Amino acid sequence: MFPSPDFQQLQQTIQDCTSTEVELALTARKPGIHDLAALLSPAAVPFLEEMARRSALLTAQRFGKAIQLYAPIYLSNYCTNRCAYCGFAANNRIARKSLTLDEAEAEAEILHKRGFQHILLVSGEAEDIVGVEYLEAIALRLRGRFAAVSIEVQPLSTAHYARLFKAGITAVAVYQETYNQEMYKEVHLAGKKTDYHYRLETPARVAAAGMREVGIGALLGLTDWRAEGLALGLHLAWLHKHFWSTGVTVSFPRLRPAAGGFAPLVPVSEQNLSQLIFGLRLFDPDVGLLLSTREEARYRDGMLGLGTTRYSAGSCTAPGGYSHPDQTDGEQFSVGDLRTMDEVRMAIAAKGFDPVSKDWDSAFQTGK
Ligand code: SF4
Repeated sequence: MFPSPDFQQLQQTIQDCTSTEVELALTARKPGIHDLAALLSPAAVPFLEEMARRSALLTAQRFGKAIQLYAPIYLSNYCTNRCAYCGFAANNRIARKSLTLDEAEAEAEILHKRGFQHILLVSGEAEDIVGVEYLEAIALRLRGRFAAVSIEVQPLSTAHYARLFKAGITAVAVYQETYNQEMYKEVHLAGKKTDYHYRLETPARVAAAGMREVGIGALLGLTDWRAEGLALGLHLAWLHKHFWSTGVTVSFPRLRPAAGGFAPLVPVSEQNLSQLIFGLRLFDPDVGLLLSTREEARYRDGMLGLGTTRYSAGSCTAPGGYSHPDQTDGEQFSVGDLRTMDEVRMAIAAKGFDPVSKDWDSAFQTGK
């Protein structure tokens, strides 16, 4: 299993990096983990433009002009956990709702009509409400209609992931939130999510089940983003080594305003986020890097071509929000980029990139 990173050690390694090590990392043919530490370090800040240039070059070589688009469907905002930073936390008084299979299908149909081919099914962690049977049933309903259906739900067993893969789920996102065990304990106050290690081992179970892709990430704003970035690099490299046939993506959710009023404990600026993205791109030229609608349109447009490869668009973070756009009560967090999918598509095209709705077909999976 992926060994828990020693967070303080990671911080120390990063702080000790010199500008000479940054220069070496920038010219390394195959940057290793120490090169990533240098690229994330304060010593790399004066090299940000060079990092952006190299990151853009690698991204163009590996991904061309394609920017993949996806949209989330929130199935339920019931949750048995109490995460201090989340609007869905069990102790927050919000309007709770879980979608019936018909309602979930109706949400999916709206996105399908808008041209989405990749959807991400999201829910709070309440397995009595959104359990494996429910997820399997909705996957079977949607599998012919979408090129890829991913999930971001409670961690499951390998056997359950294998069952969902068979039903048509192709990818699983499961973010560690923070690799800092002390901070993890501080913000995960109750529920199954308090088990740091079970969550840490989840991406390996996803890959072992044969899923096409696993998404990892850290919630930025809880603790030292540089060390989180290095931990993500370690996790990424470990997954590649042990599950070479499973694609890995990395997300960079920055804390957004949510019910409960939790404020970021450590501010992460757009410059910090950019350094993290460039660093990971230089470390792993092939990894998919996601930038969600948590970020504002201005920043997302500015990052086009510089490293990120997948964007969500036209997102609503409340269950049933596409069918009832006037009801924003019950959102997980407020969205930073409020544009419609068409507006996002136009912005991508205006910058000379290709908004891509589909880069995969389930027929590849079933061998049809
Ligand atoms: S982050 Fe996830 S598990 Fe935690 S309260 Fe929110 S929905 Fe529940």
